[in-house]
Amino acid sequence: MSARILVVDDVPANVKLLEARLSAEYFDVLTASNGAEALKICSRAECDIVLLDVMMPDIDGFEVCRRLKSDPSTHFIPVVIITALDSPADRVRGLEAGADDFLTKPVSDIVLIARVRSLTRLKMMTDELRMRAVTSLEIGVQAPERSAVVDTGKGGRILLVDDRASSYERLAPVLSAEHIVDVETNPAEALFHAAEGNYDLLIVSLGLENFDGLRLCSQARSLERTRHVPILAIADADNNTRLLRGLEIGVNDYLLRPVDKNELLARARTQIRKRRYTDHLRDNVQNSIEMAITDALTGLHNRRYMESHLATLAEQASSRGKALALMMLDIDFFKSINDRYGHDAGDDVLREFAVRIRKSIRGIDLACRYGGEEFVIVMPETDLHVAGMVAERLRRSIAGEPFAIAKGTKLIEVTISIGLSTLEVKGEAIADVLKRADNALYRAKHDGRNRVVSAAA
Ligand code: GH3
Ligand code: MG
Ligand code: MG
Repeated sequence: MSARILVVDDVPANVKLLEARLSAEYFDVLTASNGAEALKICSRAECDIVLLDVMMPDIDGFEVCRRLKSDPSTHFIPVVIITALDSPADRVRGLEAGADDFLTKPVSDIVLIARVRSLTRLKMMTDELRMRAVTSLEIGVQAPERSAVVDTGKGGRILLVDDRASSYERLAPVLSAEHIVDVETNPAEALFHAAEGNYDLLIVSLGLENFDGLRLCSQARSLERTRHVPILAIADADNNTRLLRGLEIGVNDYLLRPVDKNELLARARTQIRKRRYTDHLRDNVQNSIEMAITDALTGLHNRRYMESHLATLAEQASSRGKALALMMLDIDFFKSINDRYGHDAGDDVLREFAVRIRKSIRGIDLACRYGGEEFVIVMPETDLHVAGMVAERLRRSIAGEPFAIAKGTKLIEVTISIGLSTLEVKGEAIADVLKRADNALYRAKHDGRNRVVSAAA
């Protein structure tokens, strides 16, 4: 899918020029000739990236950017502000308005395409994460957009990799005004240091004396622990080729020497905000995955998870010639617990039951809530004899100690019945093993409850 770029400029010739260059690289291009029109297009979610001119008659580029970035529904659209070459103060204003990047007029072809490509990648990634996070948002987890909007990007942890004293002695104090900064003067140690330090941003000098800064950047990109940490490169003004190479291998942003103090701070903040935003989204995705496989009341796995995982466990056992035992448990007369003490008391019993299950099984055993008051425990590398002992121990741990209900004010007796079965023949359908455990459970109920019954092989 090709990205849709919105070009906003009040001068038609400028629009035409950028449109032609972007179209030649197969981007879809939309255009707007003023700020209001641009805001409208963005609010309809019709574009992936905005290229924004600063000087416009109605609402200027900074204001358009500020509005996009403070609205949760458009906040995640990357904005590139296009400034005049002779006004470095505009860059700082642009970054303060929340711009993700900027280009200077006249816009060089290579830089334009490199920047748009790298922002496209970022946009695709955040889109994907946002989409997956929708589930957790619907369940009521805090919307990540909101906290990102108010984040100032200050108070980050930064690792500055620079071996020239004249350079880091100037940069580190500037950054320290807003962040916690570590300086690594030995580039050979930098990767290790970065992986250990839990940083929000790496700032790498590309002009290291005896080391290739780009190689360091590319290693940081491929290492699991540093893969998501943004990299800000500091390059010498005369080395455009290396800079482009850097952007290609995943450097997120750059500064040219001599480094402007405000620009450094603004860019560090932007990268740190972005990092926190994507981290937050990633956590939400993790949460929603956990929610999808976990039973909310007991914290055990849910039936859906067990059914998808059980097939894998059965195949493993079959192919390795190992045993696999399966336990089906059901609380006795649970309905009457609800009837007599109330539904909340029933819930207390279910929660406490899950706690006791966890205490009696091993880490490799899989426990899940299979239905209302029915549970299944899968035990890899366990034969019927051992499974019988585990089941008996569990049964006793339930019947032997009353359950606290009503906030601990009342104790009630609870018993369970258990049906056991094992994977008998290589390649046997796991549904059949479950069925045998269920039949055994039925017999345990029929024979008087509070007991363990093993299925006949
Ligand atoms: P048996 O000994 O034959 O298993 O009898 P039982 O009463 O335990 O079994 P039955 O299947 O008749 O009733 C199960 C009850 O579990 C009915 C249902 O209302 C209750 N239940 C199911 N899920 C929950 C839950 O999440 N919380 C509470 N409190 N009760 C639940
Ligand atoms: Mg029951
Ligand atoms: Mg039941």
